[in-house]
Amino acid sequence: MSHLFYLSTAARPVLDRAEGIYMWDTSGRRFIDGSSGAMVSNIGHSNPAVLAAMRAQMDKSTFGYRLHFETEPGEQLAAKVAALSPEGMEKVFFVSGGSEAVESAMKLARQYAVVTGQASRWKVISRFPSYHGSTLGALSVTGYDPLTDPFRPMMVEMPKIPAPRAYLDGLDMDNPATGAHYAAMLEDRILSEGPETVLAFIHEPVGGASTGALVPPAGYMQAVRAICDKYGVLLIHDEVMSGGGRVGTFLGGDLWGVAPDIIAISKGFGAGYAPLGAMIAQDRIVQAVQDAGGFLHGHTYAGNPLACTAGLAVLTEIERQDMMGNARKVGAVLKQRLKNLMQRYGFIGDVRGEGLLLAFEFVAGRETMAPLPREMKAFDDLVERAYAEGLIIYSRRTRGGYEGDHFLVCPPMITTEAQVDEIMEKLTRALDGFADAHAGALA
Ligand code: PLP
Repeated sequence: MSHLFYLSTAARPVLDRAEGIYMWDTSGRRFIDGSSGAMVSNIGHSNPAVLAAMRAQMDKSTFGYRLHFETEPGEQLAAKVAALSPEGMEKVFFVSGGSEAVESAMKLARQYAVVTGQASRWKVISRFPSYHGSTLGALSVTGYDPLTDPFRPMMVEMPKIPAPRAYLDGLDMDNPATGAHYAAMLEDRILSEGPETVLAFIHEPVGGASTGALVPPAGYMQAVRAICDKYGVLLIHDEVMSGGGRVGTFLGGDLWGVAPDIIAISKGFGAGYAPLGAMIAQDRIVQAVQDAGGFLHGHTYAGNPLACTAGLAVLTEIERQDMMGNARKVGAVLKQRLKNLMQRYGFIGDVRGEGLLLAFEFVAGRETMAPLPREMKAFDDLVERAYAEGLIIYSRRTRGGYEGDHFLVCPPMITTEAQVDEIMEKLTRALDGFADAHAGALA
């Protein structure tokens, strides 16, 4: 019996070992890691070069407190991240996870406002639905009632605007008017809140678990940038899931050539080898805060040499094996194969995503795009069927709230086309099982 406690899920076997895109339990059963864990293990498991680099670092030092020492891996990783980030973003602040990165971004933005004479700005507008982390600050910008409801009295309520889910609203994703339509909601909200009170807008360039790989409609990213500039609102890109290469570029924002003021990354940055995240900010923001005495924030394990070694080796491997190129190439194949499923299953209403950050969504019918009945628990049902086939996929667990069921299929960036065949075989068997079990209730 386990002494651990997490959000309850079905009983799971004990992990023994993992290599590439595969994982084995202690009974020898093999699974395909079709979601890279929670979109984390981007370069696959047990990469020999990363393990060798970590072993070598372990022989030298595993921890050096950031106020006592600089470390070579920390400096090298920061330089590499700065080189991969938009121009004018030379400074990197390490953390150990996504929530910490988001908290850091919100607090840096606030401290910048204070030191530049804009202390009335404190509201961080975000979207609904969204997920930005589980700590109280990150939760306050998270738009997902089941996770936030119990904690509301302890949080500062932050304004939310609708995520640009044009496919649900029957709007053309490729028409820039659609992007402008959703971006206008940000401008309206800034105006109704009072621009002098609005500190920042945070959103995910390519959505993660909350929206299921939502790609914004044409023109949205640029329009949002322009609105933020117009009102002196800082733009924060939460790239915790979309950053690190999975979408085929190092950052999701790169897909549109849009540079925010602050970026939060994690997940694929440490890629499952070490808890690692970072906040990257425009130099003018960092400089103003440093000039005023420094950023009043930090976490003990931040920038430890072992985690930074892992991050550096992960990025080196991504470049050496052109994994971003593979994410684009194999991602296009997988996306098409998922789209083909729509001919076979009328209850798949949408397939979306970029690179290997891909998802499909269940609907009661494509004409209405209404969700399947909540009692069907499709999000759990299909995941369990896939698991029984030896395929791990990731679904939105609604837990009391209900907005529809979507499923992320996000295997590591090293996945081959032959392995896409393997994934699709297992997924199709799981979908057939789902279709049979709910025949009559499905489109
Ligand atoms: N932001 C986004 C977009 C995420 O997807 C997540 C985690 O799923 C987080 C923040 C929080 O990251 P962590 O779980 O590492 O704290």
